[in-house]
Amino acid sequence: MNWISNYVRPKINSLFSRREVPENLWTKCDECGTMLFHRELRDNQRVCTNCGHHMHIAPRERFEALFDGGTFTEVRVPAPVEDPLKFRDQKRYPDRLRAAQKASAEHEAMLVAEGEIHRTPIVAAAQDFGFMAGSMGMYVGNAIIAAAERAVALKRPLVLFSAAGGARMQEGILSLMQMPRTTVAVEMLKEAGLPYIVVLTHPTTGGVTASYAMLGDVQIAEPNALICFAGPRVIEQTIRETLPEGFQRAEYLLDHGMLDRVTPRGQLRDEIATILRMLTGEGPVVHGDLPKPVETTQPDPLPVQDALPPTDATADPNAPKPPAG
Ligand SMILES: [Zn+2]
Repeated sequence: MNWISNYVRPKINSLFSRREVPENLWTKCDECGTMLFHRELRDNQRVCTNCGHHMHIAPRERFEALFDGGTFTEVRVPAPVEDPLKFRDQKRYPDRLRAAQKASAEHEAMLVAEGEIHRTPIVAAAQDFGFMAGSMGMYVGNAIIAAAERAVALKRPLVLFSAAGGARMQEGILSLMQMPRTTVAVEMLKEAGLPYIVVLTHPTTGGVTASYAMLGDVQIAEPNALICFAGPRVIEQTIRETLPEGFQRAEYLLDHGMLDRVTPRGQLRDEIATILRMLTGEGPVVHGDLPKPVETTQPDPLPVQDALPPTDATADPNAPKPPAG
C-alpha cells in the first residue's frame, strides 16, 4: 500500500460521491444516459431532449398535455369486486393494489376523461404502465366499457392510449374475460358510427394486444414502442432462431402493415385532431384561440397626447413632466 491508495483514492472518491444528484430533480435517460432536469422533461412530455427516447408517461400528465388548456373531466368508472379469488403470491393481492395506489396516486391502471383537442370533443382513456405494469384486470375492462358508453352517449370519438404487460394474473380467468368484454365495447362504437383511435405506447403486450388495442379504425404508435402478443425472448427460445433487428418495434410493424402511423408524442395532439376531423367530416383544425386582427386604414381614434395623464398644478413639481407637443 502506498500513499496513492491510502490517501489520494479516498479523496477522489469523496469528491465524486458528493456530486450525487437528488433523485427527484434529475432523470437519467435509459437510452443515451443524459441527465435530464425534471422540469425540462415534463415540458417535453417525458421525451428525452437529447435522443428523442420516449419514456413512460402517467395518464394524468398525458391528458394535461393532450387536452386544450390541459383541462378535462374524469369519467367515473364503476368499481369491480376486489380480489374475488383471494389471490396470494409473495404478497396478498389487495396489499399489492394498495402499494400501487400509494406509489402512483391513482386508483387503478386506467384513467378515462372527456375534453377537447383543438376544439374537437373526444372521450379518451389511457392505461398506466406505472400501475402494476398496466395489467388488464376487471377495473380496466370496466374503464373501457365506461369510456365507450360515454362516447356513444355524447356521440364523440374515443381515443385510447394502451400500455400493458398483459392480463392481470391475480384475477385469473376474470382478467381474460376482459378481452371479449372490451371487444364488445369497441363494437358499440362501431355500431354508433363513431371513430375509435388507438395509440400504442411502449410496451403493449399480451391480452391487451389480442383485444381492444388492435381494433382501432386508425392504429398509431409512439416511436420504438414494443408491440407484441408474446415477447421477442419467448419467440426466440421457442423457434431457436435469431430475430431480425427491431423486431416487434413500432417502425418494424409499420413497415409490415400492422400500423397506420408512427408519431412522436409531441405531434400526437395535432395528428389525432386532424384524423378525427377527417373521419367525422368536420373542417380542418383552426390554430390559435383568437381571430387574426383586422387591419384598418382609418387613423388611430385616440391621439397620442390625449392618452397621457392630465397635468395637475398641485402635483409634485419633481414629478416627471409629459413631453411638450
Ligand atoms: Zn436520451
